[in-house]
Amino acid sequence: MTHPQVSFEFFPPKNDEQIESFTRTRDKLAELKPAYMSVTFGAGGSTRARTKATVLNIQRETGISAAPHISCMSEDTDGIRELLDAYLEAGVDRLVVLRGDRPSGGGSGVFDYAVDLVRFIREHYGRRFHIEVACYPEFHPEAKKPESDLLHFKEKVDAGADGAITQYFFNFECYASFMEDCARLGMDIPVTPGIMPITNYSRLARFSSMCGADIPKWIGKRLHAWEEAGDERSIRAFGEDVVTGLCQQLLEAGVPGIHFYTLNRSAATLTLCRNLGLDKVGGSQAA
Ligand SMILES: Cc1cc2nc3c(=O)[nH]c(=O)nc-3n(C[C@H](O)[C@H](O)[C@H](O)COP(=O)(O)OP(=O)(O)OC[C@H]3O[C@@H](n4cnc5c(N)ncnc54)[C@H](O)[C@@H]3O)c2cc1C
Repeated sequence: MTHPQVSFEFFPPKNDEQIESFTRTRDKLAELKPAYMSVTFGAGGSTRARTKATVLNIQRETGISAAPHISCMSEDTDGIRELLDAYLEAGVDRLVVLRGDRPSGGGSGVFDYAVDLVRFIREHYGRRFHIEVACYPEFHPEAKKPESDLLHFKEKVDAGADGAITQYFFNFECYASFMEDCARLGMDIPVTPGIMPITNYSRLARFSSMCGADIPKWIGKRLHAWEEAGDERSIRAFGEDVVTGLCQQLLEAGVPGIHFYTLNRSAATLTLCRNLGLDKVGGSQAA
């Protein structure tokens, strides 16, 4: 049986305090030898330089493969090629390819959908990059119908995505049902669940309303009550139980790996990995 791989997602730090905290988190999580660490970009592509600097920093300082998220927003095709050339030159050969969220002031990118960017990369770079794309077991908030969202996901697979990472979710059933739909449509790429540790209710509720992830009532009501009572310890303990249980179900179902949304903090992710025995998995190292 192959071991499930672990990967960690960070956002690019923007000031000295954030850099210090990112560096501590990077080093603690690097000890778990993840398959790779990925770095997000801001809405509208606003963090291009910081995303790149953070990716290069991870590879240089830890020797672990790092994957930039790249988007269709705020770039012309020359800019995208320049960025991809620079990544290849620096030994970065894994990407998370997204449309990106449209900036609040409006505007769009050089491509309308992530599939167009996947096609562009395959057309100009062949198979030189390993490409992960996003998918949504609870469906993307803009999707008109579940089936059309699935078919749009399939377009990304057919365009050459090697794997997919899900939006976070708290119901095992939605992942299982999504995988049945993928099989029905003939998709067989690895679909890695994206997992959000629970450490804070307001932040989780804010993210979830933005990205359309459901917080089941039995979870949300408890977290809300503890937050109102100022009981952070109960939030963390319950969050650890809930997310450990979800990951156990996913691992038993044979998921290819788990991708943790770390929010640049190590404690909750480390605890989950230890609870799940994923702290001894190991992974691929950057060349
Ligand atoms: C793992 C992961 C990492 C992420 N990282 C970031 C990040 O770093 N920065 C950031 O800003 N956001 C990030 N996001 C959020 C993501 O950018 C948003 O969810 C965005 O709204 C959609 O991106 P996508 O790549 O899934 O888009 P797409 O695959 O293009 O889909 C977007 C919507 O368009 C629909 N669609 C697709 N193709 C077509 C078509 N041909 N015609 C009509 N409709 C179509 C889809 O059904 C869907 O509703 C991430 C999400 C995930 C799951």
